[in-house]
Amino acid sequence: MSILVTGGAGYIGSHAVQRLLRDGRTVVSVDNLFRGHARAMELLKGAHPGRLTFVRGDVTDGAFVRGLLDEHRVDTVMHFAALAYVGESVDNPLEYYHHNVTGLAGVLRACEQARSPVTRFVFSSSCSTYGQPAPERIPVREDCPQAPVSPYGRTKLIGEMMLRDFAERPAARDWSCAMLRYFNVCGSDRSGLLGEDHTPETHLVPVVLQAALGLRPHVGIFGTDYPTPDGTCVRDYVHVEDLVDAHVRVLDAMRPGTLLAYNVGIGRGYSVREIIDAARRVTGRDIRVVEQARRAGDPPVVFNDPARISRELGWTPGVTSLDEMIASAWRWMLAHPKGYAS
Ligand code: UDP
Repeated sequence: MSILVTGGAGYIGSHAVQRLLRDGRTVVSVDNLFRGHARAMELLKGAHPGRLTFVRGDVTDGAFVRGLLDEHRVDTVMHFAALAYVGESVDNPLEYYHHNVTGLAGVLRACEQARSPVTRFVFSSSCSTYGQPAPERIPVREDCPQAPVSPYGRTKLIGEMMLRDFAERPAARDWSCAMLRYFNVCGSDRSGLLGEDHTPETHLVPVVLQAALGLRPHVGIFGTDYPTPDGTCVRDYVHVEDLVDAHVRVLDAMRPGTLLAYNVGIGRGYSVREIIDAARRVTGRDIRVVEQARRAGDPPVVFNDPARISRELGWTPGVTSLDEMIASAWRWMLAHPKGYAS
């Protein structure tokens, strides 16, 4: 039996594929390569000969997904394929509903119709489903009310609702599902093969490192008047390999009939200025900052309460030092200033 990873050529998906291959599993990765990287797939195939099949295609094509499930006798799906920029989702909501909601529905229908049963489904959700948690809700637990403030966050919440309904249908039988709500993911794999390469890049850590590398003139700080110790937003940064580890652990915990939801974040927050200071320490380079207005929809402080995931899955982050996290992203960026095209 194999595992289907949708969005397997993307940043998080490719790290998940790598981890599954390292664990000795057989993986089918599907990606439309809109933002994913064929190069990441070639590198992983080279490192793990014979155990990775990569197929270019779109998950919104349910018949295509169904064909993959049957051909490769898939029993487990990790669904990463999605559009994931908050700002872009505001400008172009229908694209987000199409890929993130219709895409998920297509994959689930394919699972329902597959010849051999798909029994485990892991869904990439997001802390953006919580929207702007009230201050007394920080750190954020899984039972925090979910009230997303962006179309992107809403597509992820609708995905969770769809999965709940799907899990409760009478025919669900052996089906089990886990929804992982990611906090701010960063870093790259320890072997140096894979990294974060987004176009456009909007995430804080790579943006700061691109400024350190001279690929951009400065970093804009989006808001310096938040009610936080240094006036900038506080977020929970989790290393991509730790995030992927949560996926592997949850697979082991899934039993027929279970519907699980976990936050994945280290449980401590760092401000934008702390990230920039850490990047200065790690890179030894000057990083120019320009203080700018707030970005719409940014909550002042969001970080995770990892109690549930640590208690139930035994998950604890391997990387908790901010400098180590930034250094991991920096190593790949130094070696790949133009991303996978380097
Ligand atoms: N941020 C910033 N400048 C940038 C990119 C991000 O000040 O060029 C801030 C952003 O306002 C937020 C934090 O950094 O408070 C993390 O943003 P990112 O886009 O990386 O992730 P998000 O928290 O939006 O998922």
